[in-house]
Amino acid sequence: MKKVNERFLEYVKVDTKSDETTRVTPSTKGQLELGKILEKELKEIGLEDVHVDEFGYVYGTLKSNSDKKDIPTIGFISHMDTAPDMSGKNVNPQIVENYDGGVLVLNEELNIKLDPKELPELKNYIGKTLITTDGTTLLGADDKAGISEIITAMEYLINHPEIKHGDIKIGFTPDEEIGEGADHFNVKEFNADFAYTVDGGPLGELEFENFNAAGAKVIIVGRNVHPGSAKGKMINSALIAHEFLNLLPLDEVPEKTENYEGFSFLLGIEGSVEKTEMSFIIRDFFENEFERRKEEFKKAAEKLNDIYGKDIVKVEIKEQYRNMKEKIEPVMHIIEVAKKAMEMAEVVPEIKPIRGGTDGARLSFMGLPTPNMFTGGENFHGRYEYIAIESMEKAVETIINIVKLYGEQ
Ligand SMILES: [Zn+2]
Repeated sequence: MKKVNERFLEYVKVDTKSDETTRVTPSTKGQLELGKILEKELKEIGLEDVHVDEFGYVYGTLKSNSDKKDIPTIGFISHMDTAPDMSGKNVNPQIVENYDGGVLVLNEELNIKLDPKELPELKNYIGKTLITTDGTTLLGADDKAGISEIITAMEYLINHPEIKHGDIKIGFTPDEEIGEGADHFNVKEFNADFAYTVDGGPLGELEFENFNAAGAKVIIVGRNVHPGSAKGKMINSALIAHEFLNLLPLDEVPEKTENYEGFSFLLGIEGSVEKTEMSFIIRDFFENEFERRKEEFKKAAEKLNDIYGKDIVKVEIKEQYRNMKEKIEPVMHIIEVAKKAMEMAEVVPEIKPIRGGTDGARLSFMGLPTPNMFTGGENFHGRYEYIAIESMEKAVETIINIVKLYGEQ
């Protein structure tokens, strides 16, 4: 049997950085390459119905070995791509055995180091074996750790037929990092009662609440007149944009909010006298507050239009994704069982809201309730990413325990 870290070190060799500009699925060839490797491996360990579909999604089934007919079908899902904003080419993992809690120099030349003064969570890893980057790329634990953990757990189950279970479905998706991982997910064919994305951070993380999300565009059209004779005629759209911003709650922005607090976030502003455009995202966990935030944008526009004239300020709001909580609550046993599975592996469950979205949130609204569990990785998406082998092993154990608990019910 291959170890979880051996698998991981193989998968990170393949550059699977996604790219939102290519407009095809999968967005990059490397993802297909990894998909082929995974397809072969799933077949080798003995899964059935293994295939890569036309969009590069990899699916497989571990068939039930139990006489019981009422065991639910569980899915485990992770993504093959890595974040588009950081190189995933020539990943050169460094292994640090028995980490002593000190500063780890990743790259002398670039002066990149893991320093417990800046990354205090490093203290949790004293005595563990860490896999880090060499300071020039990301690591790809997000989410090749999840893939390694799922496959290792499946191989364990195949080698331990005394553990009785129902059908288990595996899905590896492309393009999660560019927000498209759920786009072509075949929920119907996957045919699971529920699933877990194995795509979270540190040990114990378990998430089933995420933001409600919308994007807002504010377009302000002004009127330019020679400044010498502008009185009563000029409408300066850039100044109206400034007024618009002052009508929004100034403290409800990302840099001043945490936990369950929502915000609106000004992503960018571009303008002159004639025309100014602002783009925002709006985020909130609670439906009524989310509606209130969208309403504030419309009211601000109305107010300014009353002053400066009809249709000077236009607001376009586009819904993006929704809090999966409402889809998880009716099947809360999937959270309870995951918690118990972690405790059996001596992992303390850390349930917290996701200040973002996940593919699981979208899958939940497509009919497949899908919370998110930990991979064990830290500092995703950049050169400071690392993962402890011991955490990966705990994730493997947790997956096995989830399967076991449902099989015994
Ligand atoms: Zn991820």
